[in-house]
Amino acid sequence: MTLRVIAIDGPAGSGKSTVARALAERLDLEYLDTGAMYRSVAFAALRVDVDPSDGEAVAALTLALTIEVDSGVVAVDGVDASIEIRGPEVTRAVSVVAANPVVRRDMRDRQRAWAEKRGGGVIEGRDIGTVVFPDAVLKVYLTADAEARAGRRAQEVTNLDYETVAADIARRDALDQGRADSPLVEATDAVVIDTTDRSVDHIVDEVLDRLSAAEAAR
Ligand code: C5P
Repeated sequence: MTLRVIAIDGPAGSGKSTVARALAERLDLEYLDTGAMYRSVAFAALRVDVDPSDGEAVAALTLALTIEVDSGVVAVDGVDASIEIRGPEVTRAVSVVAANPVVRRDMRDRQRAWAEKRGGGVIEGRDIGTVVFPDAVLKVYLTADAEARAGRRAQEVTNLDYETVAADIARRDALDQGRADSPLVEATDAVVIDTTDRSVDHIVDEVLDRLSAAEAAR
């Protein structure tokens, strides 16, 4: 069976979550935030004092981990971690954990199983169109000016100033783009949309038009 997967990739603050959620609603598909899965691994490591850069320990912990992502609630080994996975400690540790090839393989398998179970979905992340679902019916790569991206994130996290958020995004972008295993990169066949000065509705309309065209051409 062909899965109906719409892949939404891009750097932090590019608007992926907002666009992916709105799109899923319009299409009556389920939505998966794969960043929340990597954040869950970082959360689990920090909780038991495992150094995020200790590759072997993080790998072992990951393979034994239960992660449930459901309508915005993220449970890690049965513990509701929805708030903590967005906190500064996890945000600092997540890109190191996400560069671990064992972690990536395991998350990839879980993401594929999630989509198989549902016949598809709107899936957002960094490597969804390039690695996890190279046959996605539509691949979207969202970008935005660095200032706009930092500004959006700074509004979401009320306890950090703009400079701290901007520096964190720049650091994560560099790690995510520079890692050897499935780095953040535009898929060659992705529709690239700059979200800097555009409303969510306009972006979603454009993606829906592109999706119709892609499905008609299949
Ligand atoms: O999307 P979000 O900012 O929550 O992602 C957190 C981190 O998880 C990213 O900075 C990246 O290191 C990692 N990630 C990834 N691959 C994905 C999704 C997220 O490496 N598909």
